[in-house]
Amino acid sequence: MAREVWGVRQVAFVPKVRMDLDCFRPEFLRLVWVFARTAPPLNEDVMMITSVSEGRHGENSRHFVASGLDVRFVDIQGQPRPGGIVGTSEQDRHNKAREWRDRAQKLGGPGIQIVQEGDHLHGELDW
Ligand SMILES: [Zn+2]
Repeated sequence: MAREVWGVRQVAFVPKVRMDLDCFRPEFLRLVWVFARTAPPLNEDVMMITSVSEGRHGENSRHFVASGLDVRFVDIQGQPRPGGIVGTSEQDRHNKAREWRDRAQKLGGPGIQIVQEGDHLHGELDW
C-alpha cells in the first residue's frame, strides 16, 4: 500500500506577524512543526502563519500568551495565495483543511488543540 506523504518544509509569515521571544520555546515550536509536518499540498509549498498575537481574538485567547497561532488554508476569491490548500473547489479545500486538522491533532496529541475556523486552522497549547 502506498504511503501518503504529508507536509511542507517551509514556513513563512504574513508581514504583520511578530513572534514574541516566548514563542521560541519547545512546546510552541513543536506546534508549528506539527502543522507543517501534516500539511496537505499548499500553494508555493509553503505554510503561512497569519497570526500569532496580532489580530482580533477573544479576550482570553491563547494568542495573547504566546500559546496560539493561525495557519492559512484558503485563497481569497479563488486567487491562489501562498499557503492556500491546493484543491479543485472551495469545498474540496475545506475538506482537505478538516483532514489536515485531524492529522495535526493526532500527531500533536494531548496538550495541543487544533480548530478549523473560517479561513484558517487555529492551534493552541493547553495550560
Ligand atoms: Zn487563532
